[in-house]
Amino acid sequence: MKKITRETEIHLISTILGSESKQHQDDIFNNYGSEKIQIGNFYRNTLSELLGITKLRNELTEEEIKLKVALHLSPPAAIDYKSGNKKKQWQLIKEYVTKQLDFEVNSEETDKICKEASKILQKWNTNRRNSKSTYESQREYLLKKCGNKCSNCNVSFSHERIEEEMSKYENGKLDEYKSFYNEKQEDPTYYLYPEIDHISPISSYGDEKPENKEILCKLCNRGKTDGSQLSIRREFDIANKSIQDVDIYDRHRLFYLCTYLHNKKCTNCGTSNEITIRKVVENGPLVLTNLKVICYTCLDQSRVY
Ligand SMILES: [Zn+2]
Ligand SMILES: [Zn+2]
Repeated sequence: MKKITRETEIHLISTILGSESKQHQDDIFNNYGSEKIQIGNFYRNTLSELLGITKLRNELTEEEIKLKVALHLSPPAAIDYKSGNKKKQWQLIKEYVTKQLDFEVNSEETDKICKEASKILQKWNTNRRNSKSTYESQREYLLKKCGNKCSNCNVSFSHERIEEEMSKYENGKLDEYKSFYNEKQEDPTYYLYPEIDHISPISSYGDEKPENKEILCKLCNRGKTDGSQLSIRREFDIANKSIQDVDIYDRHRLFYLCTYLHNKKCTNCGTSNEITIRKVVENGPLVLTNLKVICYTCLDQSRVY
C-alpha cells in the first residue's frame, strides 16, 4: 500500500470531523464496507493506514473511528483536559495540529475540526464517567441488599471488621485458612474488599440483570473463579501440605469450594455468622473431604472449652 500523503490525511480528517461534509461522511461510514464503491475502498485504505488498523470493516463503529481521529489530533493536555485550564480544549488541539502536525487547511476549517474533536473527547469522557458511576451505584445498592456482608462467607465490610483483621495481623494471629492478607501488597485486608459477582457467571450465559448479581469479598470471588472444581491432581499436590505452605490461589479455591459444598453454613450452629474452614481430623490430609465449615463464634468457644 502506498503511504498516504499529508494532503490525503488532512482531507480525510476534515471529511470525518468537518461539519460541512455530511455527504462525504456518509460515503465513508456507509460505504467503506462495500467492494463495489470506489470511494468506499479509497477511504477504507487510507483510514486503515491513518489509524493503524488493517481491517476496518465491522471492527470499529463510526463513533469509535471518530474518537480515534480525535485522539490522533490531540495533545495529552487536551485528552486529560482540566477544567482550570486557561485555554479551551479545542484551542489546545488547534495549537497542536498547526504546530506539530503542520495542518494546512484554512483557519476556519481547522477551527471546525478542532472543535469537533474536542466535542468528541468530551462526549467519551462523560460516557466513561457515567458507566463508572453506574458500577459504583450498583455496588452500593447490592451492598445494602446484602447487609454490607459477603454473600458467601458473611464477612462484614465494616470498619470494625477491618480493624479486627489489622490487629490479628499485628498479633500474628491471622486465620491461615481464610487469608485476606496479600503479601505483594503487604496489606492484611487486601482480600477483604467487596466486589460485584455474577451469580451465574457470564461465561456460562449468566446475564447482567441485578437479580443475577451479589456481593462477594475478594477472597470468595477469587475462590469462586468460574465455579469449576479443583482438579484431583491439584488436590493431590496440596493434600500433604500444611495450610501455611499452600499458595494463596489454592487456599482461596479450597475455602470457596468447602463453603459451597456445605451451603455456606457453620456445620456446628447453622447460623449466618461469619464462617471460616478447619480440618475435621486435625492431623488428617488437607483435602476437601477433611474440611468443615465453622463460624468464628463456635471456633472461639471450642478453644475456650
Ligand atoms: Zn467472602
Ligand atoms: Zn457456628
